[in-house]
Amino acid sequence: MLKGQMMDRPLLVSSLIDFAAEVHATVPVVSATVEGPIHRQTYAETHARVARLANALTAMGVKPGDRIATLAWNTHRHLELYFAISGIGAVCHTINPRLFPEQMAYIVRHAEDTTLFFDTTFLPLVEKLRAVFEPIRTYVAMTDRAHMPAETNLPGLLCYEDLLAAASPSIVWPEFDENTACALCYTSGTTGDPKGALYSHRSNLLHSFYVVASAQGAFTSARPVLPVVPLFHANAWGLPFVVALTGSPFVMPGPRLDGANLFDLMETTGVWGGWGVPTVWLGLLDEMAKRGRKPAGLSRILTGGSAMSPATIATFERDWNVDIIHGWGMTEMSPVGSLTQLSAAEEQLPLEERVAIKGRQGRRMYGVEMKIVDADGRPQPHDGTSQGELFVRGATVISGYYANPAATAAAMDKDGWFGTGDVATITEDGWLVLVDRTKDLVKSGGEWISSIDVENAAIGCPGVANAAVIAVPHPKWNERPLLVVVKAKDATIGKAEILAYLGTRLARWQVPDDVVFVEALPLTATGKISKKDLRALYADHRL
Ligand code: ADP
Repeated sequence: MLKGQMMDRPLLVSSLIDFAAEVHATVPVVSATVEGPIHRQTYAETHARVARLANALTAMGVKPGDRIATLAWNTHRHLELYFAISGIGAVCHTINPRLFPEQMAYIVRHAEDTTLFFDTTFLPLVEKLRAVFEPIRTYVAMTDRAHMPAETNLPGLLCYEDLLAAASPSIVWPEFDENTACALCYTSGTTGDPKGALYSHRSNLLHSFYVVASAQGAFTSARPVLPVVPLFHANAWGLPFVVALTGSPFVMPGPRLDGANLFDLMETTGVWGGWGVPTVWLGLLDEMAKRGRKPAGLSRILTGGSAMSPATIATFERDWNVDIIHGWGMTEMSPVGSLTQLSAAEEQLPLEERVAIKGRQGRRMYGVEMKIVDADGRPQPHDGTSQGELFVRGATVISGYYANPAATAAAMDKDGWFGTGDVATITEDGWLVLVDRTKDLVKSGGEWISSIDVENAAIGCPGVANAAVIAVPHPKWNERPLLVVVKAKDATIGKAEILAYLGTRLARWQVPDDVVFVEALPLTATGKISKKDLRALYADHRL
C-alpha cells in the first residue's frame, strides 16, 4: 500500500475548546446555577476558566489517566470540568446522582476515582457516602467562597472558584495519542452492576463530526442549544463537544428541570433547539398548553432515550410548529446511533404520514453500522419486517466495558460487533424501528408484543397523558400486556373506552388485558419510565 502523505495530528478534545475560543470567542455560554442567578460567559471566557481549572488540577497532583469524578447538574462549571480534565489527559467520570447510593459507591470504587467535584446540592449525599468512597482523596465543592458550607465532615474540602482564582488562565495543552481515554460513563445498571463505557479523545471527536453531519442543520453559531439531557448521563449525548465544534451558543438549565423553569430559561435565552428524553418534553408541552404559547425561538426538539409517540410528535409539529428529530442510542455508543433524516419526498408527506415516520428511531448516522440477527446470530434482511437483536459497530462504539471482561464477553459477538439488547427491524430504505428492549417485550404465547407499539397507540387516545406497558404472568399465554395509564388533567376516560380505542388501532392479540390508572409513572435515574419498578409494583396483578 502507498501511504498517504498528510500530517498526522491527534484528534484531541482540547482542540475543540481552543477552536471555539478563537473562532467563536464572543458566543455565549449561559447557565442556570445551583446558587440561583443565571450566569453568562463567552467561549473566550470559558476557555480561560478551563485553562485555570486544568492548571489547578495539575497543581493538585492530578496525573494523566487519573479518574476525576463529578456529581453535578448542567452548569458552566460542569462543562469546564469536561474540557479541563480531558485536556490534561485525565478522565472525566460523570456520576449520575440519581443512582442508588450502593451503585454510586460501586462505581467510585470500580473506577478508582481519586477526586470528586460536586454541586453543593449533593453535599449531604457526599458526606453520607464519604465512608464508602474509599479511593477519593480530594473533595471540591463546585461553588464560590460565599456559598461554601459552613461545616462539613469532608476532609480539606476545596472551593472551585478559589482554585480557579489562584491558577493561570493560559495553557498550552499537552499532546498525546488520540486513543487516550478522556471520559468514563457507567450505564444505569437496570440489570446487575453498572458497566463503564470509557470514551477516547478520538471517539468523542468522531462522534461530534457524525452528529453534526446527521443532525440536519441543528448546529450553527446562531442557534442556541439547550441540553436537558444531563451532563452526567451518556456523555451528555456528545453535546459539549458538538457545540464547541460548531460554536453554538450553549444554554445549561442547572438543577431545575420542570416545564415552567425550562420554558422561562428557553424564552429568555432564545433557545432554538432542545435535547432530552420524552418525559421532559411532555412536561414542556403541559407548560406550553397552560401559557397558550411556546418559548419564542424554540424551533427544534431532539428527543431520544426512549420512544416518543407519533401522537406527541404530531402535537409538537401541528400545534406548535416545533420540528421533532427522533434519535436512538446508548451510553455504549457515545451515545448517538441514529437520527430522523427525512428525504425530500418524506418531508412533503401529510402530517399523519410524516409523524409516523418520525416515530421510528431514525436512520443510522454515518459511522455507525447496524445489523439485526436471529437467535443463532444469523443476519436478517433489512426488509421492514424481519426482526432481530440489533448489533452495532463503529469507531464511536465501545470495544468492551471498562475493566469488566465478563460483561464484555456477554455483549460482543465473534466478529466484534456490540449487542445492544434491543430488538429491531430495519426498512429497505434504512429506517430503524425499535420493537423493544429484549427484557421489556411481552412474550405472549408464540408472539412478541412490542410495548412501544402499544404505548404509542395508547398515548394517541384522547384523555391519556402518558402510558406504559409491562408484561404480567398469564396461566395460558405465559405473559400478557398490562397497560398503566396517567390520565390527562380533568379527563374522565375509563378502562373500557381505552380498550375500545386500542381495539381500532392494534391487532386483537396485542390489546392489553387490563388497564390500571396511576397519578404518575415511576422514572429511572435517567428520566425514562421505569419498567422494572412497574413490574415489581404489579408482580401480583391477576388478569
Ligand atoms: P439507560 O440504560 O440509563 O437508559 P441508555 O441511555 O444508554 O441508558 O439507554 C439506551 C437504551 O435506551 C437503548 O438500548 C434503548 O433500549 C433505549 N432507547 C434509546 N433511544 C430510544 C428511542 N428513541 N426509542 C426507544 N428506545 C430508545
